[in-house]
Order: sequence, then C-alpha cells, then structure tokens
Amino acid sequence: MILRLLLGDQLNYEHPWFNKPDDNVIYTLMEMRQETDYVRHHAQKILGFFAAMRQFDRWLRKKGHRTHYLSIDDPNNRQELRKNLAFLIKLYKITEAEYLEPDEYRLDKLLSSLSKPLGIPVTMLTSEHFFTTREELSEFFAGKKTYLMESFYRYMRRKHYVLMEGEEPVGGEWNFDKENRSALPKDYKKVAPLVFEKDLTRLWSTVTFSGVESFGFANYDRFHWPASREESLALLDFFLEYLLPHFGKFQDAMSERDWSLFHSRLSFALNTKMLSPDEVVHKTAAYWKAHKKRIPLPAVEGFIRQILGWREYMRGVYWAQMPEYKKMNYFNHKEVLPAFYWTGETRMHCLSVTIQQSLQHAYAHHIQRLMITGNFALLAGIHPDKVDEWYLGIYIDAVEWVEMPNTRGMSQFADGGLVATKPYVSSGQYIGRMSNYCQSCFYNKNVKYGEKACPFNSLYWHFHARHRQKLEKNPRIGMIYKTFDKMEMSERSSILSHADKILGGLNKL
Ligand SMILES: Cc1cc2nc3c(=O)[nH]c(=O)nc-3n(C[C@H](O)[C@H](O)[C@H](O)COP(=O)(O)OP(=O)(O)OC[C@H]3O[C@@H](n4cnc5c(N)ncnc54)[C@H](O)[C@@H]3O)c2cc1C
Ligand code: SF4
Repeated sequence: MILRLLLGDQLNYEHPWFNKPDDNVIYTLMEMRQETDYVRHHAQKILGFFAAMRQFDRWLRKKGHRTHYLSIDDPNNRQELRKNLAFLIKLYKITEAEYLEPDEYRLDKLLSSLSKPLGIPVTMLTSEHFFTTREELSEFFAGKKTYLMESFYRYMRRKHYVLMEGEEPVGGEWNFDKENRSALPKDYKKVAPLVFEKDLTRLWSTVTFSGVESFGFANYDRFHWPASREESLALLDFFLEYLLPHFGKFQDAMSERDWSLFHSRLSFALNTKMLSPDEVVHKTAAYWKAHKKRIPLPAVEGFIRQILGWREYMRGVYWAQMPEYKKMNYFNHKEVLPAFYWTGETRMHCLSVTIQQSLQHAYAHHIQRLMITGNFALLAGIHPDKVDEWYLGIYIDAVEWVEMPNTRGMSQFADGGLVATKPYVSSGQYIGRMSNYCQSCFYNKNVKYGEKACPFNSLYWHFHARHRQKLEKNPRIGMIYKTFDKMEMSERSSILSHADKILGGLNKL
C-alpha cells in the first residue's frame, strides 16, 4: 500500500496523481498545530487553508480515491507531520510513501529526511505547478551579484512564448511599467469584488475549540475567499472580464474607498495550487487577444509580468538563497514593530487604513504592502525577523517561499540589494500622490518637522542619513544625497532631530 501526502498548499486538482483511482494508494491531508502555530496567523488564513483542504478531500473521495483526512480536532491527530505519518503507516500497513515537492525550505528538510525514521522508502515527485524548476533562476544568474528581474522576465517570455510575435515582444516593448503608475481619478468607477460568502461557522468552532490562536477578523459566516477549483476559476473569469481592463493603469494606486481595486485577489488560489500559473497566464493572453478593443496591452503585460515574472523570480531567489536568506539584515535593524501593526490604531491614516483593511480581509494589495506598511517598517528600523513574522501571519496568501523574498528582499532591502536595486522608501509625497489617504490624516504630508509633520518625511531623511555609507554609492540613490546636502544646516538638523523623537516613541504616532 502506498501513502501519498498532500500538504495544505498542494491542492492541484490537475495533478496526474488524480487521473485514476487506485485501491493500492491512499491520500492524506492533515490539519496540524505544527502548521497553525509556527507563527500566529490571521483567522481567515487558517479558515481558508482548512476549508480548501477539506473541499479537496471531498473531491478526491467523490472521484473514487481513498483518503485519510486528519482534522485539527481528530483524537488520532498527533499534530506533527512525522508522528502522523508514522501512525498512518502502521494503520494501513504502508510499504512506501510519496510526497510532492514542498515549496518551503523547512518542510523540504523535514520530508527529505523521513525515510530512515519511518523505515520505508519515501520519494519526492514534482508538484507540476510552477513554470520553473527550483534551480532555474540560480542557473540563469550563475556568477551574478544581483538578480535583475527584467532579464529573467524576458527569458521567461521567450521560453514560454507569451505575448510574443516571432522573436519580438508584442507591441514592441517588453515592459509597460511606466504606463502602469497612475493615481485614481476622483470619479473612478468602483467594481465590487467577487466574494463567495460561505458559511464556515462549524469549521471556525472546531478551530477555536481546538485552541488554535489567531488574530484578525474571522468573517466565518460570510467567508469570501475561494476554497474550491470552481470558485478559483470564477475569480479568474471575474478578473478578466471586469478588472483586467483597468489593472495596469491603476496597479500602484491606493484608495480608502476600495480595498482590492482592480487587483485579481488570485494569490491564495495560486499559492494553494487550486489554479496553475500556466493556465492563468495563457487564459489571460488568450482573453486579451479576443478583447483587444476593450483591454489595453499594458494591462495584460503588467498582469502577466507579475505571474510569469515576479512570482517565478521570487521562488527562484528563495531556493537560491535559503537558508542564509532568512538571517539577512543588511542595515542591522533591531526595533520591534509598533503595537499599531496589530490594531491599526494610529493617527497615520495610510497605516491605519492599510492595517485595518488587512485585519478585516487578510489582504492588502502590492503597493499597500510595499509602500505603506513595508516602507514604514524599513524607515523605522524594524528587525526583518519581526517584519517577516507579521507578513507571514497576516495575509491569506502568505507562504514563506514568496513572502520572504518579497518582505526581506524587496521591501526591507535586508539582502543588500539582491532583489531590489534600491530600498523602496518614500516620503509622504509619494503616498499623497498615489492615494487619497493624506486627505483625512492628522498629519500633513507637506510638513517635514513639528507636531503635524508627516512622520514619513523626517524618517525618510533619517534613514538615508544613518545609512549613508551603505547607500551613497548606489547610482539610483546619489541624487537623494545631493538634495539632502543642499538643504540648510538648520533645516537638516530640525528634520533629523524630529525623526529621532519619532523613533524614540513609535507607539505614540
Ligand atoms: C512585503 C510584501 C510581502 C508580500 N507577501 C506575499 C505573500 O506572502 N504571498 C504572495 O503571494 N505575495 C506576496 N507579495 C506580493 C504581492 O503583494 C501579492 O502577490 C499580491 O498583492 C496578491 O494580491 P493579488 O492576487 O490581488 O495580486 P495582483 O496584483 O492581482 O497580481 C496577480 C498575481 O501576481 C502575483 N504577484 C504579484 N506580485 C508579486 C510579487 N511581488 N511576488 C510574487 N508574486 C507576485 C501573485 O500571484 C498575484 O496573485 C508580497 C509583497 C510585498 C511587498
Ligand atoms: S500625511 Fe503622512 S502619515 Fe498621513 S496619510 Fe499621508 S503619508 Fe500617511
């Protein structure tokens, strides 16, 4: 008898394993404290994973496969992967076990060392999900000090023949990012997001009764994330029809009126593998071909770049750099996160909106993550471990392989510039330009110091001043120091001492 393990983020309905039922094979999915407790997660993240796993198990059984599902409250559940496997091996007289390539380093290490303690052969097979192998990116960048996403992206476009015309990119440009940075007009037409409104009251009771700790709004009686293949496909179709036409242009925009704007909200379905990146990319390209009049090329290119480019790139960085990546702290930052990251209670309106929205929906879009919460954490000198922990816990799509290179690399520059060519930091001006947050803020984005000064302004200069040695030679930053040096001495010292005051009392903001 063969035991096949499926992890919570391996719900690939299209995997060849499931083509035909086999009486000699038993599948297992496990809800475990090992997974709920390694960091404190948002309630919707726990519910989303468990609901999707339960649905997958039902689907397997309906197709005639044998399964053993260990729910979080099952008395036989040992709450640890190795112990649960040992229990099932004994129960079903298993002679060999198989698992699919895990995406997290810690699980890879654990699973690859199980053969001996379990006393049976344990074999890894491909998850058939990604465009690239784990090693493809490091082979592509062999010998390079930085990994330039753009060159990897072009390689991917050519290799998978996406948005290509012969050897050239469709429309004559590889990247339309410059056209994808508009703020929202005041009268933009809001599109209500597609939500599923499932009742997960029973699952929520099981989770809480089992003692699993979480934070954030559970929304269990109207749970809106997709938990099945059908719902995931419906979300993709909804995106293509209603959101894609505006995706590119307003990709970087933020609004307190609208928590997901024109973003797809597909990351949870993708990261659990209910959707494959290949089908999302090719369906998007085909949809655009059929609706060219309605959908601008920059929108399609911008969206495909996120999945074919950034998503695969981040995975490659993770496997090229782990386990060292997890310890990187280029700026030697040491602070803890201010308490308002867990409540949203701060007078800084941009942070308050973004954090409260994240607590409400377990979601924030890319620019909110990068230029609001990430930006502030970097300017405030928060330890990357603390920042990672927060991002890993709060977002429904957070799985370490994609969370960490985005947080530690792109957002916190803790890898010293492997992923980002310069730190993603800004003053209040950028936030004011890209959002309507500043309009109802206690602080004033145009003021640099004093009671009403936007904290981003002085912290921005303080960050550059304190890390001058590490950043000044970066060709993309040189201008910032020129501007700083041109300021009146008294102006500079007022700004820096105001920032010192802020840094001494982050919780008072
Ligand atoms: C600090 C920080 C932490 C992040 N943590 C995560 C995380 O834990 N999990 C996660 O999936 N994404 C993470 N991202 C990337 C990105 O913010 C999310 O993928 C995106 O916001 C998900 O929302 P969406 O599905 O509506 O995306 P859309 O804007 O609609 O984009 C489409 C898809 O492209 C992919 N994508 C877009 N940007 C990236 C990126 N930078 N890296 C990898 N894939 C990308 C996602 O699969 C996403 O679903 C993080 C970004 C930052 C700055
Ligand atoms: S003024 Fe500053 S703190 Fe307030 S919303 Fe704007 S950027 Fe954020």
